[in-house]
Amino acid sequence: MKVLITGGAGFIGSHAVHHFLSCGDEVIVVDKLTYAGKLENLDDMPRPFTFENADICDVSTMRAVFRENRFDVVVNFAAETHVDNSIRDSAPFVQTNLAGATVLMDLAREYETLFCQLSTDEVYGDAVDSDIGFETTDPLRPRNPYSVTKAAADMMLLSYHNTFKQSYLIFRPSNNFGPRQHAEKFLPKLVETLISYDAKAIFPLYGDGRQVREWTYAGDTVKAIRDTIVAGERNRILNISSGFSLENIETIRRVVDVLDERGYMANPERIKHVEDRLGHDRRYWIESDIPTNAFTPFDVALKKTIDHYYQRFA
Ligand code: NAD
Repeated sequence: MKVLITGGAGFIGSHAVHHFLSCGDEVIVVDKLTYAGKLENLDDMPRPFTFENADICDVSTMRAVFRENRFDVVVNFAAETHVDNSIRDSAPFVQTNLAGATVLMDLAREYETLFCQLSTDEVYGDAVDSDIGFETTDPLRPRNPYSVTKAAADMMLLSYHNTFKQSYLIFRPSNNFGPRQHAEKFLPKLVETLISYDAKAIFPLYGDGRQVREWTYAGDTVKAIRDTIVAGERNRILNISSGFSLENIETIRRVVDVLDERGYMANPERIKHVEDRLGHDRRYWIESDIPTNAFTPFDVALKKTIDHYYQRFA
């Protein structure tokens, strides 16, 4: 199939480009190359693909991309993704995550293309008082500017289905990890700090560090996405999660253990408790619509991921 992957030079998008190419698809990548997108994330792909350096908000450029290609499917990974940045300034999040996504929805509608939107478990809000994880039928209660823009794009797409019969899939993955994530995010930043020779380097641990996050390997997420498309599922929302949760302080302990085990010399004194993030959700927790036995065991994926970041930061 012929696939447009937006945000393909970012973290999960680059895993998607790799996976779709490995499966024999024709892939066109659109990425604006913000601070989060890196062309080197697209090195070592299994087959050639086309890359367009473009902004999904730019209607005329995006229309030309659609006109020239006639895609079977659009998978929209392009987004502003760092919650801390959205607390500092929400404007780029509204622009790319809602306005840009809507530009793509309009073109998918015009060119009668399946539209797949990357949403997030954060749209359900805090699960701290729940007895079970959120399901896709639960109400959306996003609680930070990032997750509000993601929820808004989901609602827009559902409205396009209702109004225009736009065919869609919405994927809501839990917290992803793996190689090629931007250094501002939890795991790469943790490894970089723990192995740093810079005595001033610190890893800020928000609040008591007992926030709970689920951990899903990016390679598993993109496989679940493609399998769902190919299976012919349409007009559905799917939660994607390994179901494996840890408190942040326990994640740190495991990362220190793996670094030590591999002889990489971690320095746990670099972890410093800092004031909690504003509006910080305590727990994200979703019930996966993909069988959890399909996911790579956390310890196996963690070792692979740590080796990647050690090579990158050492
Ligand atoms: P990322 O920040 O690593 O990558 C985002 C990519 O989008 C970058 O390459 C960036 O250059 C590109 N981009 C940003 N604005 C653009 C624009 N206007 N036009 C074109 N390209 C633009 O993000 P990620 O972690 O890979 O997340 C991908 C998607 O998955 C996002 O929609 C995110 O909300 C969702 N998601 C991520 C996680 C996670 O744990 N990383 C979990 C759930 C959902």
